[in-house]
Amino acid sequence: MDNQPAVSFIIPVYNETEVFASLIERMDELIAKMDEICEVVLIDDGSKDNTAQLMEALALKDPKYHCVFLSRNFGHQKALSAGLDSAKGDLIMLLDADLQDPPELFFDFKKIIEEGYDIVYGVRRKRKESFLKKLAYNSFYRLINQISNYPIPKDSGDFGMITRPVLNAINANREESRFLRGIRSWVGFKQVGFEYERQARAAGDTKYTLSKMFKLAMDGIFNYTTLPIKLLSVFGTICIIGSLIYFALTLFKKYMYGDVPTGFTALLFAVILFGGFQLLSLGIIGEYIQRIFFQVKERPLYIIKNKIINGQKVNE
Ligand code: UDP
Ligand code: MG
Repeated sequence: MDNQPAVSFIIPVYNETEVFASLIERMDELIAKMDEICEVVLIDDGSKDNTAQLMEALALKDPKYHCVFLSRNFGHQKALSAGLDSAKGDLIMLLDADLQDPPELFFDFKKIIEEGYDIVYGVRRKRKESFLKKLAYNSFYRLINQISNYPIPKDSGDFGMITRPVLNAINANREESRFLRGIRSWVGFKQVGFEYERQARAAGDTKYTLSKMFKLAMDGIFNYTTLPIKLLSVFGTICIIGSLIYFALTLFKKYMYGDVPTGFTALLFAVILFGGFQLLSLGIIGEYIQRIFFQVKERPLYIIKNKIINGQKVNE
């Protein structure tokens, strides 16, 4: 079929009215320079402003723009997953709507794929972001790489390009708590990072609230390592051995020297410390249980309200 796209761009969009026109302008300019047949899959993640109306008007006018409208806000990772599920191309490029990641890197990414790679992901050279956000990112990537069972490259995001076999492998992962860069690392294949300079947002404000960022970081940690649970056992064992030694020493002192132990403050300190530690341990175990809980429900990852494909409205 000749209108089968060779390249799919996947762009999740949430309340992006301010940046929408510039995004489409940049995409049109880029596609005009490309030889391949393209589709641009825009996923409306339950926008509350008039982003959805802008998308609809565009998709009805220009059939290379396909729209997937989710029934509510499912979050960036699930919106991306919805896009990946509907991508038809052999090369798939994921990017954000706010033009922080230059779409023009398409050409560089494609060259690398042609050299024999299956996955190219953007690695941010400099972050034009607030000091706090930079600090949060840096600590997160350092931590996760220390403890994760699979390497999650530092300063890489979801921005990048993958081939169809990789897409199929990623899409086969239906886990509920999604951390796509972790899944991307897990699927294997030949991967490489590509350094680029991440721009500031072209317009509008970040849609990643602190709580959404925190959830993503927690998903990154608890989905890819069981080290926190193992540490609990190690720490518990150390405490037991320590207390047994202390107990033996106390008995020894009592019977040898008639030394009766005192120290209410020390006792209180130990009770509070270990009470706190036990609660923290329950919390850590709870993080895993919560993920099991949501996973066993086997709910769909997202719900599509309707779509516009090839300029045609399709109701789900
Ligand atoms: N986004 C989304 N759903 C959300 C939050 C964000 O689809 O609940 C989209 C947003 O429109 C953008 C991308 O995800 O295209 C990245 O969000 P943003 O730029 O706000 O995150 P930041 O770059 O500040 O981390
Ligand atoms: Mg952004």
